[in-house]
Amino acid sequence: MEGVHVTENAPLAPLTTLRLGGPARRLLTAQSDDEVVAAVRAADAAGEPLLVIGGGSNLVIGDAGFDGTVLRIATTGFTLEGTALELAAGEVWSEAVARTVDAGLAGIEFLAGIPGSAGATPVQNVGAYGQEVAQRVTEVVAYDRTAGELVTLANADCAFSYRHSRFKAEPDRYVVLRVRFALEEAAGLSSPVQYAEVARTLGVAAGERVDLRTAFETVLRLRAGKGMVLDPADHDTWSAGSFFTNPVLSPEQFAAFLAQVDERRLEAPAWPAPDGHTKTSAAWLIDRAGFTKGYGSGPATLSTKHTLALTNRGRASTEDLLALAREVRDGVRAAFGVELVNEPVMVGVRL
Ligand SMILES: Cc1cc2nc3c(=O)[nH]c(=O)nc-3n(C[C@H](O)[C@H](O)[C@H](O)COP(=O)(O)OP(=O)(O)OC[C@H]3O[C@@H](n4cnc5c(N)ncnc54)[C@H](O)[C@@H]3O)c2cc1C
Repeated sequence: MEGVHVTENAPLAPLTTLRLGGPARRLLTAQSDDEVVAAVRAADAAGEPLLVIGGGSNLVIGDAGFDGTVLRIATTGFTLEGTALELAAGEVWSEAVARTVDAGLAGIEFLAGIPGSAGATPVQNVGAYGQEVAQRVTEVVAYDRTAGELVTLANADCAFSYRHSRFKAEPDRYVVLRVRFALEEAAGLSSPVQYAEVARTLGVAAGERVDLRTAFETVLRLRAGKGMVLDPADHDTWSAGSFFTNPVLSPEQFAAFLAQVDERRLEAPAWPAPDGHTKTSAAWLIDRAGFTKGYGSGPATLSTKHTLALTNRGRASTEDLLALAREVRDGVRAAFGVELVNEPVMVGVRL
């Protein structure tokens, strides 16, 4: 594997935004699609456990590390032809979004400031402020480890749903190499504003378009205020973003939840979700269960800016973080009967 950079017994904590996790037996860094495919093929042929990582911003790696090969995808490639965008998996997502705004194209501007790589965005169907990549992805080019060949999956084949996809459902099968998007030329305007907080901040009604750059900068400002833009000097951003997904409740679960909420004379956020389900807010549940911003006295605490982010204050271990996560999950279950599910991918550990 010429060109692939290899390190034995490599610390993984510096490769994650939580700065947590023990070492990898071997760390490979691949800078071209061919290197990625060769590295994956070699690991699979040897029966070697493999963990693919991008920016490490959605990973909780155990203190014991990873007893196998970690492949860090550092490929580059940004191609814009008209409104068609193709990104190599290793491209830094937030920089790619900024470049599309510079080019005057709408479609992913509300996903500004999200850390990590382009290749990871289809994995959990990255979303924020009323946009998600599923709305814009046309094709994903991946190496299919089961078939041993390159495949091109159309949007409809990616099984995108809320913070989920085929890639997440079959975690050891696809290694994303390239992601293609259809953006929009909207005469310097943004996509229609969908998210209430953004609309309020911009002083427009939901559904209106605003100046593209204003939309982009507004989202960056809102995110920064919540500690959701990486800043190495700010421990509130030593996180994996939202630690729990917003619960999606069946009609029966929602009725039981409402009964608990009514008993306490509270009013819970609720949004319609597919198949008659209802989505509620994990941040609201955590806060109302008594875990307010900054909760915790140990080396891992809730962010002082956002109840949904679990953070490393500098000396935490993964076990410290998980102890806090379990306390929050159990507290929300006891208070509201709702089971919170972790959003980041766990490596060698369970909640
Ligand atoms: C401060 C902060 C804010 C965040 N805000 C948001 C937000 O608003 N919305 C949101 O959706 N997420 C958010 N996140 C989570 C995270 O940024 C995204 O999930 C991001 O897409 C992860 O990219 P990554 O390259 O860091 O992936 P990693 O953490 O490296 O990996 C995550 C998972 O994807 C897999 N993976 C990575 N690259 C590939 C590839 N090329 N092929 C196949 N599998 C791959 C990994 O194996 C792992 O399972 C936030 C995180 C942080 C730290």
